[in-house]
Amino acid sequence: MSESPIKKIQATGMMRKLMTEHFLELDAAANSSASDRPLIAWCTSVGPAELLRSFGFLVYFPENHGAVLGSSRVAADLIPAANARGYSPDICSYLTSDVGSYLKQQTPLMKAFGMKGVPRADVLVYNTNQCRDVQDWLAFYQREWGVPLIGIDTQRGLGEITADHLDGLIAQHKSLIPTLAEVSGRKFDLDRLKEVVASSYRCTLLWKRVLELAAHQPSPISFFDCTIHMGPAVVLRGTPAAEEYYPVLIKELEQRIADGIAAVDGEKLRYYWEGMPVWGKLRDHAEQFAGQHACVVASTYCNSWVFEAMGLDDPFEAMARSYTELFIVRGEDWKEDYLKAKFADYGIDGIIYHDAKTCPNNSNCRYGMPQRMTRATGVPYVTINGDLNDLRMYSEEQARTQFEALAEQIEESR
Ligand code: SF4
Repeated sequence: MSESPIKKIQATGMMRKLMTEHFLELDAAANSSASDRPLIAWCTSVGPAELLRSFGFLVYFPENHGAVLGSSRVAADLIPAANARGYSPDICSYLTSDVGSYLKQQTPLMKAFGMKGVPRADVLVYNTNQCRDVQDWLAFYQREWGVPLIGIDTQRGLGEITADHLDGLIAQHKSLIPTLAEVSGRKFDLDRLKEVVASSYRCTLLWKRVLELAAHQPSPISFFDCTIHMGPAVVLRGTPAAEEYYPVLIKELEQRIADGIAAVDGEKLRYYWEGMPVWGKLRDHAEQFAGQHACVVASTYCNSWVFEAMGLDDPFEAMARSYTELFIVRGEDWKEDYLKAKFADYGIDGIIYHDAKTCPNNSNCRYGMPQRMTRATGVPYVTINGDLNDLRMYSEEQARTQFEALAEQIEESR
């Protein structure tokens, strides 16, 4: 068997340890009968995690579980159980995988981290900034468990974010407080919230630095590495663990640059990945690109956990802005300007759009964007049809052909 061209990042061991501690803490809380056990809040991935932590909740992110179900390739066994309960095969396959996992009482978290199962929520909190599916997803558990479901409704397709938008969003964040105080039995503590927001901001700056290092030619890290190493920025932001981890990763990547070590040997093509990862094919994709000496150096997806506004003085404005300035919330013109800037920053030779069947919200190739972008920048593109979790929507052959066509097109134009 030939050796994999994927280079191991040494910091991965530390990340696994921190992620294991995170999951075991949740597991212990979920299975404790002590009256003072820590309470658990489920939060959508770009929901108000800082506010929840300020009340002392342990925060669990169901989308992270969705990604685990996808990358461990068990989603296809689980999705039909959710379909049978009326959750369409056409809606978010994180949702259907996760609901299927609950219905079948099967999760890879048991084997990977020694957990007893998915930790049950004491409160469910969403932000519809990314899609409506997250609200319906958590509503499933509200009906199952009878726990409170609260959230923030964010307008989407935004260009400029106005004071009116922000005022409404700040008010919505504040309106969560009474329920969180009642469930947690604690009073709201503004100073604690400021501390958590400040910690989230430090995490953001570190994660941003990781992503920026990929602008170096050759890049010391690929998109496929980043989808794994973004874990702490997603599930541990606002905690010391995330701040502990990223300096170690950054040091290793800076050392790679100093030593001339690339994520992909002989890097000659630099790609941008637009849309969701195909979680069950990360390794295959990483190997295919490495075989072409192509490195996917940047993506919208991994950049979505950079929250620059967390540095604002007012923690409510910091959260409201951070969770609204996201790419997924914005209109087409804003998105195209963003992509042009990223292509320039990272020296992009080609772009891959992933049209994820069950996530129209994070598939940006359906309304002429690829054509407009290529006309404006000259950067060629391909679109692959697939899905984040449901591999029945993905054609290995089509993707391989598309990846080869992109490389050939670029080589021929040189
Ligand atoms: S943005 Fe897409 S992948 Fe994420 S929860 Fe919504 S539908 Fe699912």
